Amino acid sequence: MTDRRVLLATKNQGKLKEFLRIITELHGESSLELLSADDFPDLGDIEETGATFIENALLKARESCRITGVAAIADDSGICVDALNGMPGIYSARWAGTHGNDKANLELLLAQLNHIPADRRTGSFRCAVALVFPDGRELVEEGVMPGYIIDQPRGNGGFGYDPIFVAEGYELTTAELSPSEKDAISHRGKAFRVLAPKLLEMLNA
Ligand code: IMP
Repeated sequence: MTDRRVLLATKNQGKLKEFLRIITELHGESSLELLSADDFPDLGDIEETGATFIENALLKARESCRITGVAAIADDSGICVDALNGMPGIYSARWAGTHGNDKANLELLLAQLNHIPADRRTGSFRCAVALVFPDGRELVEEGVMPGYIIDQPRGNGGFGYDPIFVAEGYELTTAELSPSEKDAISHRGKAFRVLAPKLLEMLNA
């Protein structure tokens, strides 16, 4: 029988729910058995040593697949600010020094953009998502959400840099959008929506 287990190699419950919603919308609940990093206590944290979102997503998916023996999906994402030559980019989660300190990261970015006028505060959220099968098949997809960075945080939703990011064509920050409104336009939502049907095809192949 075909192994329908797929590991989404993250401890982030938000990412897990988002991916499950997208897969379920596409093919109903029984199409695969989605597992998370919590199902594999030995998985541990995989160091992001790559130089790009794609390299980091691939190395996390490859390592997760190798350790667990299960098809694995991993993503890497961040905010790229034009006036900072694309930084923080892959360093978004640790921009202020400590991994995952969202408040410090956001405050540092605001301070760095302090002198930049509104019309030059453009940037984007970017995401690469990689899928690796135990038999060696691999796939990578990317998603981008363009927009700009405001100078005062607004909104309580989302996470990370959401309170200071306004997507192109919007006035609310992505922290002021509902989860489904954000999913519909987000970098991760876009990458997951391209990957999901291909994942199901590859599972059936
Ligand atoms: P990772 O992909 O889990 O490594 O996260 C990278 C970092 O980029 C996060 O810690 C956030 O700081 C930032 N980031 C990625 N996606 C988003 C988003 O959708 N909203 C806000 N911040 C994000």
